[in-house]
Amino acid sequence: MQTDTKLLYQQLPQVGEILETSAMKELVRRYPRPSVLDAVRQVLESIRSEIAQGSHTGQTVSAAIDRLGERVKELLHRGSQAELQPVINATGVMLQTNLGRAPLSEEAIERIGAVARGYCNLEYDLKAGERGHRGAHAEELLLQLAGCDRHQRAPLIVNNCAAAAFLALNSLAEGGEVIVSRGELVEIGGGFRVPEILRKSGARLVEVGTTNRTCIEDYAAAITSETRVILRVHRSNFQIVGFTEQPDLRALMRLGADAGVPVVLDQGTGCVTPLEAFGLGPQSSFLAGVHSGAALVCASGDKLLGGPQCGLIIGEHNAMRRLRANPLYRALRVDKLTLAALEATLLAYLSDRPQTIPTIKMLGLSAEEIRQRCVRWADTMRCDGITAEVVPAASVVGGGTTPGATLPSFAVALQASRVSADHLAALFRSLNPPVITRIQDDLVLLDLRTVPEQMDGGTLISIRDQVHIKMASNASTDTP
Ligand SMILES: *Cc1c(COP(=O)(O)O)cnc(C)c1O
Repeated sequence: MQTDTKLLYQQLPQVGEILETSAMKELVRRYPRPSVLDAVRQVLESIRSEIAQGSHTGQTVSAAIDRLGERVKELLHRGSQAELQPVINATGVMLQTNLGRAPLSEEAIERIGAVARGYCNLEYDLKAGERGHRGAHAEELLLQLAGCDRHQRAPLIVNNCAAAAFLALNSLAEGGEVIVSRGELVEIGGGFRVPEILRKSGARLVEVGTTNRTCIEDYAAAITSETRVILRVHRSNFQIVGFTEQPDLRALMRLGADAGVPVVLDQGTGCVTPLEAFGLGPQSSFLAGVHSGAALVCASGDKLLGGPQCGLIIGEHNAMRRLRANPLYRALRVDKLTLAALEATLLAYLSDRPQTIPTIKMLGLSAEEIRQRCVRWADTMRCDGITAEVVPAASVVGGGTTPGATLPSFAVALQASRVSADHLAALFRSLNPPVITRIQDDLVLLDLRTVPEQMDGGTLISIRDQVHIKMASNASTDTP
């Protein structure tokens, strides 16, 4: 047995030999030589491990050697392709962090292109002909949109809301105490844990209340000469229901004002539109936070604002001066592409065209509109081996914004006669572009709220054709 395996290893050619073949010489002309060498080694290594696992005979090793060139070529091809690619989000979750949160408006995309193609006045004052302030215009627009008086409030833009909260805590509370309710010591997702961010900021956490109930007296009793900030964290991705209590924002502001302690609001959602208009219940918003009297409010640019990933901060001048002067700000500032997209997004709100922002458009789609499109998708997708029905569904805003809130929607429910729902969902993910679905009760659901209407033509046909071809080849190769 052992000598057998040894013989199999001996059948494998040397790397040098392989590189001398005409197929490899051809590849070396197209790809960097070290990449070709690396790919050859990888393929040889995988054949060796297959031999070690006992999955080869003399014959199959020969076949693997014959296919070696092909496998090297595949590896090189895959390695030279960009990995980050567009996908179709058919989950109905509008802001899905794993899928890149908010799709940008056409105008935002256009601005990114315009600014990226050449040089721009990122930190250059065109009137004065000298160094200017990065993000000045976007910050001005943010202040306008928030309806703030510039003598009272100042804006700042950083990389994301986590960076905003971190910068705020480090600037205002390093070495001191920060009071937080135990009901808000949460993980928002993607590893953003309030207690950890706080510790890293150099502040000491003072927990008050309990998970379900914290009252204003709890905060009051915790204030000492060491208190630097009272922190309120928006419950973005969970709800506490039942026997609960949380002091309202006004009470917290009064307490802060009386004690001379700034209240910092980690709002997260970045919402500037009244969500009640879309049939969602009342939600705390970025705007309400800014006007609540909080010393400083942080939000995400790519949640309900529907813009690029960034962190938006509006606060009192005193506090904001300390953030801007913090050397950490230099490490957390945004790039020109983000600012270009953010300006376009803010301008869409300011010029009363919020529906050009995909997130806002998706929120506003009626269930009936979606149902009609679903009928068309179901009729197109249905075939021998796949049933397709239109079913009621609930779209989720997601992305840590409005926990528990859903919008009535419709979905196409697909079921394949020969493969499981998991298998069918995997098949959709293998399409070009990949389609991300949701599985419910053994059905694969396509919620069209998050699928742009422009895809109802050629894209739908292409998806249908790809699915049918894959199902057919599955049927002929699958062992039951
Ligand atoms: C989403 C969220 C964050 C993190 O925002 P990022 O922009 O993803 O960094 C922080 N705090 C709250 C309350 C959030 O909802």
